[in-house]
Amino acid sequence: MKKSLIKAVAAAALSVFSINLSASAHVTVAQNDDVIITTTELGNGLYMLEGRGGNIGISVGPDGVFMIDDQFGNIADKILAAVAEVTDQPVSYVLNTHWHGDHTGGNAAMAAEGATILSHDNVRKRLKQSLEVKGELETGASSLPVLTFSDTTTFFWNGHEIHVFHFPSAHTDGDALVHFRTANVMHLGDTLFAGLYPFIDLDSGGTVAGFIANLEAVAALADDETKIIPGHGPLSDKVTVLSTIEMLKEAQAAVKTLVDQGLSEDEIVAADPLAPWNEEFSWQFITGERMTRTLVRDLTN
Ligand SMILES: [Zn+2]
Repeated sequence: MKKSLIKAVAAAALSVFSINLSASAHVTVAQNDDVIITTTELGNGLYMLEGRGGNIGISVGPDGVFMIDDQFGNIADKILAAVAEVTDQPVSYVLNTHWHGDHTGGNAAMAAEGATILSHDNVRKRLKQSLEVKGELETGASSLPVLTFSDTTTFFWNGHEIHVFHFPSAHTDGDALVHFRTANVMHLGDTLFAGLYPFIDLDSGGTVAGFIANLEAVAALADDETKIIPGHGPLSDKVTVLSTIEMLKEAQAAVKTLVDQGLSEDEIVAADPLAPWNEEFSWQFITGERMTRTLVRDLTN
């Protein structure tokens, strides 16, 4: 896919919700009538589903569907229809890679279909907190994960060994990496925005150092054949992971030089230290300016 098209698709995927970066994330979902779900086969009963919001991964087989992330509630029927195109089995499990609404918005709908919702401990905490803030704890309770893990867990399902690892302080404080070991497929949630500046949610416990460290762990696990489902952007591989690490390290160093000189956040933005990377990585949701401010805040707070 051409770079400009990737950015347009990624922007469209995120355009229906906005996240208030200065406080806890507020997710506003618009109409999703025009969404089309695209299914990509990855072999061994694994598929990547792209619609609107975070990319979905599914394992289908005789045990039932194991789903990773579920986008938005108002497109759940479309997601289920796409799943029904490749299997007769129901959705048994949904694993949330983190708490953001474009990855967990379908939880209640999937639970209503009989799915068990799973996540890291911190994902459930943040989802519950968000329901409490909105006064929706009672009505929204069915959207909460009912099974959580703290560090790592393994599912033996559809003939796979599905290793799930917690990624501390990367995109948020509850990120899960999903590794289908023998199939050599990974779902990274939003610890990878393929070919794009990443959203590092400092207000939800994310850090730049953690984001980089976790991608380095992924690069160590992956080989040249590994298929990697990113949270946003097209199906990726180890090369995408390595180029993101390189960009983030260099961009962070460029910003740090200015922080060390005592410049304010606004002065650093004005100096445009990310100019060398903007053309390749900047996009509608995370522009060069927003990435710069994240890097400054991460270094100074
Ligand atoms: Zn996210």
